[in-house]
Amino acid sequence: MPDVGKDPDIGKASDTGTDERGTDRLGEQESPSESPSLLASVAGFGVTFKAMFKKRLTEQYPEYKKPTAPRFHGRHQLNRHPDGLEKCIGCELCAWACPADAIYVEGADNTDEERYSPGERYGRVYQINYLRCILCGLCIEACPTRALTMTNEYELADRTRESLIYTKEELLAGLEEGMVDTPHAIYPGATEDDYYLGKITEVAPGTVRQVAVSKGELPASQRPAAGTADSPEGVEA
Ligand code: SF4
Ligand code: SF4
Repeated sequence: MPDVGKDPDIGKASDTGTDERGTDRLGEQESPSESPSLLASVAGFGVTFKAMFKKRLTEQYPEYKKPTAPRFHGRHQLNRHPDGLEKCIGCELCAWACPADAIYVEGADNTDEERYSPGERYGRVYQINYLRCILCGLCIEACPTRALTMTNEYELADRTRESLIYTKEELLAGLEEGMVDTPHAIYPGATEDDYYLGKITEVAPGTVRQVAVSKGELPASQRPAAGTADSPEGVEA
C-alpha cells in the first residue's frame, strides 16, 4: 500500500488556488463551467459558423411531400380481384403474425345470395389499430392470398383513438373501372382456384351487386317507396 501521506504532490496548491486533483484549499470540487476558457468559447462558435454554411435540411412539408421509396411500408390496403370480389378470406393469419396485436379479424361464410370473396369465407370485420402498428410488414408476409398489402401513404396522424382504428371500409381498395362492388356472384363457371391463378381478369357481363342483408340492407321488395321518410339511400338491388 502506497504511503499517501508522503506523496509530495498531494496538497500542492496551484496559482488558481486549486491543487492538481481539482480541489481548492477549502476542499470543495470546482465545476468546469466556473472556469471557461477563451479557447473553448471560440471552439463552440466554430461549430455554429460551420453549420451556417451547410445545406439546409428544412422540409417544406406539407406543401411539398417527399416521394417515398417504392417499397416503403405505409398504410395497409385490402385488395380486390379484377371483378371487384375481395381477396381476404378472413383466415386471421395476419392477426396471428402481428407482433403488436394491432389487427382484429372476424371471418364469416359466403352464401350464393351474399358473396364477398370467391371461396368459402370472407373477412366480415377487419380492423387495424394504427396506434399499435409499427409498420413492420409481417402481416402482409403472412397473408396467403395477397389480400393485404401496404401502400406508400404515411400521413396517419389524427386526434382521436377511434379515428386511428381503421375499419374494413377504410382499408378496402376502391373500385377500378369495370369492377362491381361486393357482394356479388362469382364469375359463372369459375372456381376459387381460377381467381387465385389469375384467370379471371374482368367482371362477368350482367353482374350486379347483391343485397348485403348481413349489414342490414333490405331486398328491393321490402324497401319503403322512394321519397318516403324511411327510404334508405344508395342501395341497389
Ligand atoms: S405492419 Fe406489423 S405491426 Fe402493423 S399490423 Fe402489420 S404486423 Fe402488425
Ligand atoms: S388479410 Fe390475408 S391473412 Fe389477413 S385475414 Fe385476410 S386473407 Fe387472411
